[in-house]
Amino acid sequence: MSPFEYAPAPESAAVVDIASSYGLFIGGQFVPATGGTPFKTVNPATEEVLAEVSEASTDDVDAAVAAARTAYTRVWSRMSGADRGKYLFRIARILQERAREFAVLETLDNGKPIKESRDVDLPLAAAHFFYHAGWADKLDHASLGPNPRPVGVVGQIVPWNFPMLMLAWKVAPALACGNTVVLKPAETTPLTALLFAEVCQQADLPPGVVNIVTGAGATGQAIVDHPGIDKLAFTGSTAVGKMIARSIAGTRKRATLELGGKAANIIFDDAPIDQAVEGIVNGIFFNQGHVCCAGSRILVQENIAEDLDRRLKRRLATLRVGDPMDKNTDVGAINSRKQLDRIEEMVAIGEAEGAQRWDSGCELPTNGFWFRPTVFSGVSQTHRIAQEEIFGPVVSVLTFRTPAEAVAKANNTPYGLSAGVWTEKGSRILWMADQLRAGVVWANTFNKFDPTSPFGGYKESGYGREGGRHGLEAYVTTAGPLERASEAARSKGASK
Ligand code: NAP
Ligand code: MG
Repeated sequence: MSPFEYAPAPESAAVVDIASSYGLFIGGQFVPATGGTPFKTVNPATEEVLAEVSEASTDDVDAAVAAARTAYTRVWSRMSGADRGKYLFRIARILQERAREFAVLETLDNGKPIKESRDVDLPLAAAHFFYHAGWADKLDHASLGPNPRPVGVVGQIVPWNFPMLMLAWKVAPALACGNTVVLKPAETTPLTALLFAEVCQQADLPPGVVNIVTGAGATGQAIVDHPGIDKLAFTGSTAVGKMIARSIAGTRKRATLELGGKAANIIFDDAPIDQAVEGIVNGIFFNQGHVCCAGSRILVQENIAEDLDRRLKRRLATLRVGDPMDKNTDVGAINSRKQLDRIEEMVAIGEAEGAQRWDSGCELPTNGFWFRPTVFSGVSQTHRIAQEEIFGPVVSVLTFRTPAEAVAKANNTPYGLSAGVWTEKGSRILWMADQLRAGVVWANTFNKFDPTSPFGGYKESGYGREGGRHGLEAYVTTAGPLERASEAARSKGASK
């Protein structure tokens, strides 16, 4: 039981209109799907059905790619960067104006606390459009190589943990660089992408520049396999990322893969301990731990391990778990029954491996999918809970004695997405950042994002960067005239 009682402060669901069923967004219009089986998306906090969504078949994906190709060759790649930028600024402003509607819809469909969708996902999504709007007419000055040109039609596949934010990470740079897109949201969280389709209409974006096809893995695979796709941008699990890399091997398709992670959050004995506790909470309990770069492994210096354990558990007992629409809620619902099953399975493995399990003991709602904030101590490096992604509100605690040991343990996973370092010493931060095989290293903070900062992984966390100037590189080609001529011929063939 939390020692604090709060009056509920529910956000209103009435600010958003959810249709009973949705078509696909192809060529600037909502169209019925041909042949797929419609599926339902639910609110994971209540298990209530929110809407029925279309499954795009391979024919539908074909139509979406054709619409994207036409828009690319006839309009978007010919438009000046300054004009493309105007559309992106317009989209960014509309996202800000309709932020409350988007935040509520994201929370209903995904289960994340409204204070996160309102204060993190939506402001950052708009910021990505603003940032990339600014680049659209300055690509010649972005050190991308001589005469940067768009790549063509981009297939984009995103997961369910940050549906709108991942859409923004993908669509904004693609459009800024003059590409057109076919995007598939995750099966359990399609609604904000469909609302974004309305925003494209509202912004008068030329038809076909953005196409949104809903569906599950098979629809994603149809995008991956489509010969008319020039580049793929995928965010999701390492297993599916590997399948995609295999599928496109030997083709001319380019890809960026943003995959899983198992970040170390490293606490030295000179760290400001209460701030480090807040950093741990933000690192692993933000978005129920459904975060690729979550600080899911705490590495704590041995002489402060007991103190940290006590303070962390005292803090976790105050986390409010429950109704995501309540503005007081800290930890919302697990996104789906399937994900809850995965978390429970991994936690059972951790117990069987001999680690000690502790949870906050808070009450949970009766309906919906929930998991209590959980800490495993006595974890060793060989444990599966120290090596594999759990993707839920579960953290493993390991100890170390020296900086070199912290580095060796932090790097001892197949992943390399992010890491956190907590210490008072600036020189140690720089040394650690140099030694850690992680795309992002946070110092005395965690899970901070900004569109100007590139994000991406090493090793099995994928390749390519999103955000910042580096993120533009994936969306342009600086091929010479001969190569461009042969690419143009190929695109012409693919659009037939
Ligand atoms: P996932 O199963 O790989 O799904 C990601 C997306 O791929 C979904 O839209 C999914 O469709 C689709 N998909 C599934 N099978 C496919 C196939 N054969 N071909 C093409 N597309 C396919 O991942 P998830 O479990 O939803 O997401 C969690 C994972 O994403 C975690 O591993 C997390 O670390 C990673 N992630 C990484 C980053 C990053 O930036 N590195 C950011 C966020 C999340 P359906 O869901 O509709 O089946
Ligand atoms: Mg849903």
